[in-house]
Amino acid sequence: MRLRSPVFLSGAFLVLAVAHAAYFNVAVRTDPDAALSRFDALMDIDAQSRASSHGERALAMQIAKGANESELAPLKVKLSMAQLSKKRYARAATLLEDALSSSWATGLDERERIRLEDQMGRAHILSNNIEEAVAIYASFLELAGDAAAKIDAENENTLAAYYADRVDAASIEFIEALNHASHDFLKTGNRESQLATANQMADLGGFYAMRDNGAYAAAGLLATAYETRRNLLGGEHQETVQLTLILGPLYSRMGRIEDTEKLYLDAFHAQEDAKGSNSPELSLYIKLLAGVYEQQGRMTEAQALFEHMRKVFRDAFGDQRYTVNQRRDRRADINRPVSQQFTLSPSYAPSDLVSAAAYTVPISKAPSLDEMKLRLAADQGADPREANMPARLAQLISLCRSESHENISLRSGYRSYRTQEVVHERNGNRGTVTPPGMSEHQTGLAADININGRFMRQSDRAFQCFEENAFRFGFILSYPLGNDYLPGSDTYEPWHWRYVGVQTAQLYREAGPHNKPQEFLAALPCYEERAASGAFPTAGEEDICLAAPEVITASVDAKDPEEALETSKLDTARILNTAPTSARSRQ
Ligand SMILES: [Zn+2]
Repeated sequence: MRLRSPVFLSGAFLVLAVAHAAYFNVAVRTDPDAALSRFDALMDIDAQSRASSHGERALAMQIAKGANESELAPLKVKLSMAQLSKKRYARAATLLEDALSSSWATGLDERERIRLEDQMGRAHILSNNIEEAVAIYASFLELAGDAAAKIDAENENTLAAYYADRVDAASIEFIEALNHASHDFLKTGNRESQLATANQMADLGGFYAMRDNGAYAAAGLLATAYETRRNLLGGEHQETVQLTLILGPLYSRMGRIEDTEKLYLDAFHAQEDAKGSNSPELSLYIKLLAGVYEQQGRMTEAQALFEHMRKVFRDAFGDQRYTVNQRRDRRADINRPVSQQFTLSPSYAPSDLVSAAAYTVPISKAPSLDEMKLRLAADQGADPREANMPARLAQLISLCRSESHENISLRSGYRSYRTQEVVHERNGNRGTVTPPGMSEHQTGLAADININGRFMRQSDRAFQCFEENAFRFGFILSYPLGNDYLPGSDTYEPWHWRYVGVQTAQLYREAGPHNKPQEFLAALPCYEERAASGAFPTAGEEDICLAAPEVITASVDAKDPEEALETSKLDTARILNTAPTSARSRQ
């Protein structure tokens, strides 16, 4: 017999090989199990990018067979990993989203579910779907709660710390995405959804700003949130301002001085347009800008700004509108003195209490508690949702948090007479609890401030920031060193800040008696009058509002009950100021 030629043999082999390959191909195309095992095999040898097409095929066949979402979930999760390594981020995110929204996910171990959600968040960032990603990580932040405030939370083995850690780790993807993205992702969606995303970005940005390696992620997120708010709400809106006050110190820390300057200039002009060129609120932006100029060695410009500030101040206090506003503040008790000399009745309760958290004040207790409420104390004529005490406190905290890098929150706001009574009875006259009727907390205008979970101290960097800036937001330190407004021997409370309104706080700073806030409030009409007439005292000069009764009584109409009250308060202020120390009651 003739031997078959080698050509024929190899030809036959080829036919067989092709047939086998064809069979195999048909099998993985038509037999779900074959496709699946091929996918699994490739995943096992780490050939994930080749695995993806087999996986998609297996998935399509399972869907064709009528498998439900819950049955498909494990395959989808596995396939998402293959798609991630293929850089098909959007597909990976969709697969994970399907799996996590099926009932299969409810049976997952908590940490495993968080890990997959994190994976999905990263896939969203990488596919430039920043909005979805921001929503996921903002919810993580919420679930992290207090753990997010701790810088070293990753050392804790709690779920909350795990959430915080996931958010922390995602900063790398955010930096990448926000560096390359054209920043127009917030132009999609309606106004409400854009603002909601901006809020989430502000929360996340605030979190990253506190982290050692978070500055770039924070700057990207905050800048986008800022631009969104500026476009939709306006540059003068309190929520836009709040971001200016976080972003400015952050830019400055990053050495982005030109960005800082631009930000503050924008804010300055926006406030000027909205409130007029002699509004005392401008002093904040002038101070911030001057700081930037000083940092750059532009001393002449800094000096000119400070001069301008002085002029703004005097113009504002010479303005008749100011006096009108003061009378209204007085009727509304916004600048009412409270101390053991000026007590409040048990029935006194403010009518405009609001939740501090609703105005984005960081709080340390459950938001529904009375203690986490503050008076709205809205400015007359301004949008009550913007120009008010809680919004300004939120801004002040934003600025000082960004400047000090310390964690600042509201520890205590409103306390009713009854609450104060209960707390006082429990503590007696020791320590930090004021007897009922003598506490500014009953007005809802006082805020006790926590730093890193305890009372603010004089040595805190945040305290320095409050000292320097609180008055620009309408707050003063009510119980300075050596005061005798409260019974007890230790009455200094560096954590207790009281809202009196922006103009009154600035007047106190500029013209009031040094470290005598209650005397100042009691004699406020005198200081207003003096400021309006441009008669500012020079250093070392005697304070006529406290020392020379006839100057004021001459201008008071005693027939007006409100003015009569002022007169009696003025007298008390003088007594306060002149009485020898021994005559003051101390317990
Ligand atoms: Zn207090």
